[in-house]
Amino acid sequence: MTTAHGAIETPAFIPVGTQASVKAVSPRELRELEAQIILGNTYHLFVRPGIEVIRDFGGLHKFMNWNGPILTDSGGYQIFSLAKLRKITEEGAQFQNHVDGQPAFISPEIAMEIQAALGSDVAMVLDECAPYPCEYDYAARSAQMTARWAARCKRAVEANASPARTMSPANLNAAAGTVAATTVNQLLFGIVQGATFDDLRKSSAQAIADLDFDGYAIGGVSVGEPEEEMMRAVESAEPCLPKDRPRYAMGLGTPPQLLEMTARGMDMFDCVLPTRLARNGTAFTASGTINLKNAEFALDKKPIEEDCSCPSCREFARGYIRHLVKAEEILGLRLITLHNLHFYLALMNRARTEIERGTFDQFRRGFVMEYKVRDVDLAKL
Ligand SMILES: [Zn+2]
Repeated sequence: MTTAHGAIETPAFIPVGTQASVKAVSPRELRELEAQIILGNTYHLFVRPGIEVIRDFGGLHKFMNWNGPILTDSGGYQIFSLAKLRKITEEGAQFQNHVDGQPAFISPEIAMEIQAALGSDVAMVLDECAPYPCEYDYAARSAQMTARWAARCKRAVEANASPARTMSPANLNAAAGTVAATTVNQLLFGIVQGATFDDLRKSSAQAIADLDFDGYAIGGVSVGEPEEEMMRAVESAEPCLPKDRPRYAMGLGTPPQLLEMTARGMDMFDCVLPTRLARNGTAFTASGTINLKNAEFALDKKPIEEDCSCPSCREFARGYIRHLVKAEEILGLRLITLHNLHFYLALMNRARTEIERGTFDQFRRGFVMEYKVRDVDLAKL
């Protein structure tokens, strides 16, 4: 996938930089880990520091000093999961933010304007992410509205790009965002919804594909549903999406889930697990997660994972990292975070190699069989 800040080889893992920071990791370290692209959360940046601050810095790349590709979400998911007193209408979403309760309103057009000001390389349309479980009728109405919102996002972007646009007040507003945009050729991805219903997933994918986006995301997955339902949601939508565009499974997942989704035609993944679990002492290995707080690691001189080339494993023993975590030293969580991000990025690297060799399915089966989740119940996170 080609973006204004460089090419991305897929399948790709996208480290999550919620507040313009991948927690505890600097952009220099992300480059050393060979992260190809990172994610910024529009909602969080909109609430704090505010879009005007980032605009003043010349966009998100300059603000956080990351010169690689950035994908921003639309903010919709966080409005629906974090904000208070939200009211969703055809026009958009009214909410009070979770930090200081300030009221705000985001429409599809405003979501585009905000992401233009952030200057991300990949922008996402505003969608409504249906909860799990969800009634069929609600899921159907919600997916239809998401398709209408997607069409409005596309029109808003095209109106800004076209020199012959008519200057209605709404356009003038949107154009103000465009002038300050720092990324030309921002890609726009549509989002498939439809909850856990096969026919809704298909009709949503068809409606979104008809709008002709640069890439397509599967949203509303990994929201608490059983893994089989998640796989089915992707399998239902996938055949309706154009083969020549990137597909992005949003908010996923465990290492085996990434490989299973890759096998089902997905190309991009973002997930907080590597950074979030690190903060509770949990490290990823090829045979599952280990919790370094456990007493069994106190005298362990081995690295987190044998033959791992990450900066933590090259220099430090499990027993030392365990001590840091127990003593609540910041270095401990940093070392596990670096290892976990390396694990996810290296897994996708390996997947690309295996795909090129034509041996991906064999690799996936072997990896999934070997991998067990210990200590943590990932479904509860
Ligand atoms: Zn490592």
